[in-house]
Amino acid sequence: MIDETRVGAGALSADGVAADVALAEVRALRAGDRPTHGGRLFAYVYDPAVPGLDELAAAAHRESAHVNGLDPTAFPSLLAMENALVAAAGRVLGGGPGTTAPDVAGSVTSGGTESLILAVKAARDAHPEQVAPRIVVPASAHAAFAKAAHYLRVALDVVPVSPDTLRPDPAAMAAAIRPETVLVACSAPSYAHGVVDPVAEIAAAAARAGVRCHVDACFGGWTLPYLRRLGEPVPPFDFAVPGVTSISVDLHKYAYAPKGVSVLLHRDAALRAPQYFAYADWPGYTMINPVIASTRSGGPIAAAYATLRHLGDAGYLTLAERTRDAVAGLAAAVREVDGLRLMAEPESTVVCFTATEGGPDLFVLVDELTARGWHTQPQLSYAGLPASVHLTVTAAVAPRVAEFGPDLADAVAAALAAGPVRLPAELAALAGALTPDALTPELVAGLAAGLGLGAEPAAGSSPDGASTAAPLPERMALVNTLLDAAPPVLRERLLVEFVGLLQRPAW
Ligand SMILES: *Cc1c(COP(=O)(O)O)cnc(C)c1O
Repeated sequence: MIDETRVGAGALSADGVAADVALAEVRALRAGDRPTHGGRLFAYVYDPAVPGLDELAAAAHRESAHVNGLDPTAFPSLLAMENALVAAAGRVLGGGPGTTAPDVAGSVTSGGTESLILAVKAARDAHPEQVAPRIVVPASAHAAFAKAAHYLRVALDVVPVSPDTLRPDPAAMAAAIRPETVLVACSAPSYAHGVVDPVAEIAAAAARAGVRCHVDACFGGWTLPYLRRLGEPVPPFDFAVPGVTSISVDLHKYAYAPKGVSVLLHRDAALRAPQYFAYADWPGYTMINPVIASTRSGGPIAAAYATLRHLGDAGYLTLAERTRDAVAGLAAAVREVDGLRLMAEPESTVVCFTATEGGPDLFVLVDELTARGWHTQPQLSYAGLPASVHLTVTAAVAPRVAEFGPDLADAVAAALAAGPVRLPAELAALAGALTPDALTPELVAGLAAGLGLGAEPAAGSSPDGASTAAPLPERMALVNTLLDAAPPVLRERLLVEFVGLLQRPAW
């Protein structure tokens, strides 16, 4: 129905298609996605369910989509909006005139990962004399720190977290600081479990050692301050804490901006300086980049600006209140079901639970919840911590909470009746014995086929010429069980291979 002129060249059709056809194709593809609105997807998306906000953000995005952040003098609109976003984030996080951190400076980045990479880069490049720089992070720190360490060739010293509190011991963090350490990091809160690290003690230890301390508030930086204003016992974690030198906060999370905006703040501009990259040693324009990207769309920045302006401080307070109540409701639902227990009492906007002895297989439970329209995020067991189910809770969940409890109980009963996933013996043996080096393309293809992962042309052409979505199994418990049985290095390698199978040209 859609396009007969397509010549098998992927997105490039012979003569181009009508605008409405192109848009219809996007919409048809989107129909296969998980629902970004409606309060039933507990990861990846952050939905305030505020009427008109999507339209406002889209309109602002459209205004600035073609503006280039490469040169702030050519497009002062972007400079102004970035400065406004940095000031807003600085205020929310305890900085600005009249505070103990009056000189906070920062940058708008494309996301939390970029903010963390740049925090590590700034710390590393502040110490050019360190030939083998290192950073200290708790085991619960976001994987983006490992990515930063990998990209920047900085060694990663990982301090375990207690299985009870899911937090690192500040004394152990302090003890991990070496002469080569350029940065100590902690989370407020951690993504996986939503617990706030002992920031004050960790920052004090870093300060005593003369080392920078980054607080990763990518997830909770925009909600913890509002939860505190609502009376929740939020421990100090922001620039009010002496020794905290930088903080990251993702506006595309709880500031409810569309994807592509995070803010990295430093206590002062001198701390930020080594974050910049400047290059004049070529015949083109002198490049001065505060962030990783050079050409940058103004779209996400304008969308975030309009979102903040529209919601305002009072709007965020109301949204935090709704979210807090949703968290309380979901946590109560978990407590009421036999066979489940909370990994931690919620102290932010995450509800994370695991199974008790004799409880359901969590990966089967996740599939049962999916079948009932609830999209949760399974987390594999790791370093003495059991597998768990993660729920990122946003304001849009509030009206759904009452429906969750009965469905959760129902899904647990179904998972118990189905019993745990039994890995076929040869798969279990493979997962236990395989080393990443032994993985051949044939072995990967065989595994993928055995697991029902689309090994056949993933994104190909449907008979009518429009692109089709990749085939994925409806039930992921088998895949998750296999990964859970494998050590982390093998998990990484298997997932790289599996995702590589999905990501290939749609000729
Ligand atoms: C989401 C998150 C990140 C990474 O952010 P992206 O925007 O996905 O790159 C880092 N740290 C924490 C705590 C997060 O929740």
